[in-house]
Amino acid sequence: MTMQQTQQIWLKEVECPLCYEEFMTENIWQGKVAVVEEYPDLGKKYSGLNPLYYSVWVCPNCLYADLRGDDFESTGKLNDESFENDYNILKLVKGKVDFTQARTFPAAIASYKLAILTAKHKKKSVAKIGTFNMRLAWLYRSLKKEKQEDKFIAYALKFYLEAFTTEDEPDFGNMSQGGITYLLGELYRRTGDLRQAVNFFQKVVNDKALNSEPKYMKMARLGWESLKDNPKANEPDPDEEQSPPAEDNASSDKASSE
Ligand SMILES: [Zn+2]
Repeated sequence: MTMQQTQQIWLKEVECPLCYEEFMTENIWQGKVAVVEEYPDLGKKYSGLNPLYYSVWVCPNCLYADLRGDDFESTGKLNDESFENDYNILKLVKGKVDFTQARTFPAAIASYKLAILTAKHKKKSVAKIGTFNMRLAWLYRSLKKEKQEDKFIAYALKFYLEAFTTEDEPDFGNMSQGGITYLLGELYRRTGDLRQAVNFFQKVVNDKALNSEPKYMKMARLGWESLKDNPKANEPDPDEEQSPPAEDNASSDKASSE
């Protein structure tokens, strides 16, 4: 389907900062976006068009991809040569998805995968790669593809955590410290590490330095509350617990089966 201007979509001509080809891209009027539901991991269910389809601009010529606007305009350390090393991956996408046409689900998925590739070459932000993976999870959820959703949630968590240890100022977009701390708790909950989930929810509620917004305080309290009586959330931390467990501690399966 060709791109066309509608009540929800406006078209913009963009020049690729890498190959200098000009192309048209779809953009969504934020005022026309209808949110039906917000999930605990901050993903949203929409009626009508899903704005996640349109947030990554992709050059149809060289497949350079990044978030619309300033991020796309600035190529950072990326250059043609380093990008072309991944040309085989690019060609795979290029045969399947046509970015000159209206954005579809497969194109939306491909746009984030290309944006991840771009981010790696820009050496810009591990945190941002986390966010792209998070959005992939939300997109798969919108079509009820649970296995893919779970896979990308685990990736998002991995990259967000890596960002904290490797980057001085991780780029979490407009997410606050309290927000990202809450989200990590929720991602731990979804990947089954309930002890860490509680740990992060508690931080949001108790750590004054985070200055968490009321929204995240409330969501973290709810998350914490829901796990309070779950035995898995109360297991000792294997990394912190260096001394052998006390005799009356029956949390070890091996010890209790002897
Ligand atoms: Zn280009």
